Amino acid sequence: MGKRILIVEDEVGISRVLKAYLVKAGYEVVQAFDGDEALRQFTACAPDLVLLDLMLPGKDGWSLLKEIRKQSSCPVMVLTALGQPKQKIAGLNQGADDYITKPFNGEEVVARVQAVLRRSPRILENPGTRQYGSLKIDFHAHTVSVKGVPLSFIPRDLSLFLFLARHPNQTFSREQLITEVWGLDYKGSERAVDLAVKRIRKALRHWPATEGEIKTFRGVGYQFCVYQE
Ligand code: CA
Repeated sequence: MGKRILIVEDEVGISRVLKAYLVKAGYEVVQAFDGDEALRQFTACAPDLVLLDLMLPGKDGWSLLKEIRKQSSCPVMVLTALGQPKQKIAGLNQGADDYITKPFNGEEVVARVQAVLRRSPRILENPGTRQYGSLKIDFHAHTVSVKGVPLSFIPRDLSLFLFLARHPNQTFSREQLITEVWGLDYKGSERAVDLAVKRIRKALRHWPATEGEIKTFRGVGYQFCVYQE
């Protein structure tokens, strides 16, 4: 499946041109035309990359970038008519991964999107074994240990933990986690996710918080945050 790109741009014509280039290059595209819609789409569709226009009605691009950075390390490419070097640097400092000045060349945008996605370590496609400080996860053997001591989980908690750990620094809503881990035919309450996370945290209690944690983003969801690799 192609990677998913969220285009946040209020000018319909520009958004349409960007979409055409990206779809042609094999990407799945979701569009948002204002800041509030962008945040909703960001949470709902978990994009692999965001193309973000700075001048937007309502919530502007800078505030959006801050909001996105609070919950995710998803690559963000800022798209704007402001071409001043000072502003470029400000954008990159606030967590943008690249910066494109309008008017742009569609093929160049595609090439830069590809480059940023290649650099992005966000999704571990075939992770094998990963070590985050003293936490070691073997994705093939389905084993987890802290400081060499194996941790035990009930099967569903283990599936949830491995799913979160495969997507470090990415936030998932309870609904997404239910779909991914419990399956679409699950009829119970989303509280099951909170309870599972509680048990997982307890199992991970000897993993130092300076190395990583399962973080709650209130009203958004959960994220496996790593601070040390
Ligand atoms: Ca605009």
